[in-house]
Amino acid sequence: MATKIEEIKSNASFEEIWKKIKHYGREGLGEIPDEDLHLLRFYGVFYRKPTPGYFMIRVRVPGGILESGKFTTSQLEALANITEKYGRDIIDITTRQQVQLRWIKIEDVPPIIEQLNRVGLTTLQTGHDNIRGVTTCPVAGLSADEVMDTRELVKEVNDAFVGNWKYTNLPRKLNITIIGCHDDCTHAEINDIAFTPAERKGEIGFHVWVGGGLGPWGTQRSLFLDAFVRKEEVKEVCLRILDLYTEYGNREKRNRARLKFIIDEWGLDKFREKLQSVLSFKLKRGGLARTHPHRHNDHIGIHPQHNPKYVYAGLNVLTGRLYLSQVRELIRIAKEYGTGEIRLTTDQNVIIPNIPKERLLEFKSEPLLSELSINPSPFTRGLIACTGKTFCPNALIETKDRSKELAAYLDEHVGAEVMKATGGLTIHASGCPNSCGNPHTGQIGIIGKKIKVDGKFVEAADIYLGAEFGLYGGFNELWKSRVPFEEAGPLLAEVIKRFVSQKYKYETFREW
Ligand code: SF4
Repeated sequence: MATKIEEIKSNASFEEIWKKIKHYGREGLGEIPDEDLHLLRFYGVFYRKPTPGYFMIRVRVPGGILESGKFTTSQLEALANITEKYGRDIIDITTRQQVQLRWIKIEDVPPIIEQLNRVGLTTLQTGHDNIRGVTTCPVAGLSADEVMDTRELVKEVNDAFVGNWKYTNLPRKLNITIIGCHDDCTHAEINDIAFTPAERKGEIGFHVWVGGGLGPWGTQRSLFLDAFVRKEEVKEVCLRILDLYTEYGNREKRNRARLKFIIDEWGLDKFREKLQSVLSFKLKRGGLARTHPHRHNDHIGIHPQHNPKYVYAGLNVLTGRLYLSQVRELIRIAKEYGTGEIRLTTDQNVIIPNIPKERLLEFKSEPLLSELSINPSPFTRGLIACTGKTFCPNALIETKDRSKELAAYLDEHVGAEVMKATGGLTIHASGCPNSCGNPHTGQIGIIGKKIKVDGKFVEAADIYLGAEFGLYGGFNELWKSRVPFEEAGPLLAEVIKRFVSQKYKYETFREW
């Protein structure tokens, strides 16, 4: 039997939802029925119970590129202006290279969406059963050694489904990544559909991976489909997989509704056959991977571009939360030294491209870099945290401040040793098993728990250790469960000390 959510979706359309947004915008919050709160998410508008009366708006940023120059206001400036006028003082970067605006009142939603549209941004389909932000290497088109510039391709795939209702009523959400570089910067292994660079008979194209994901149902690394596709075939492959997912995905049990479950049921060979039967071209097998099997590049620091006159700078944003004063400075220095463009990474950081080499010294003396560092400490560098209890109704713990405190503790107690041995260890934290903070891809993974100690509820975590980067790497494994958060720092410091004293630089961080 179809679920209630399926019934709600089956009668909806973008036009109807926009009418509802305008209606509630005029009438104020009042009583918005649950049914409509579901529908608003198709427009990226989320009611946040922990902040009664306020909404969050999620903005789609394909490939994480916030453009400048095309419009009178840069896209980041528009986001800053909206935050200043309608929100408070924070903008969050997500693990899908998107942004979240907070403290928004329902009456301000229609003008905000209109203002975003004026600078080429949209909130469409950023929530509920939709395709989330299409991610790519955040330095696509800049990197000195990329295999292929994916910027146009990401836009083409994005434009094929955004605003198209046919591709909005999916059984559950779906994630796509298209990587054109040698590194697995966007974690292809946790996407439902992933394209990674490959070469076949001298031709550059992509390998296709399917069925990856993280969630309350568990973890699944994406599976190699043994299909080599050309750049011009990528969109069709995406759309036909979406068609299969729409038709065969489970609409009765939402916790069995990700693409992975179709592949579990059919097997990979049948999935490939089914896909082949709806494609207009023949899928080719083979091809040589052009990705490094175990590499992840966070792009923090100063790096060369293919144009030797320029470099790009990767700035560390602690847990992806930018404060308005930082955003204003970021806009200023991106214009002052670069072209005004800003890129967002899946590690919740920012990149300023196109800095002339001769201005690097001056750039490095900018005060903002003491807050958004190009040379962060070993545990803050790879720190990712989901929204957590402050704003997310599903959260069991506060994540951003908790993980910052944990990173600071580890920096203080084992930072020097870790820096010497490995350069750093990544911490990925999620406030609940929904895993928005990609907890299973962190060398230290945190999933929030609430436990009782002496009759009182305290914030705790299941702690996972040892993820190995890359398509051929591995997820971390549960090390200790239900650890009160205040005990996490000392326990981790102890195991990390043993790791750095007994293991070598390139070995995986696993408990033994
Ligand atoms: Fe919310 Fe859970 Fe997602 Fe964190 S992982 S943002 S707590 S749903």
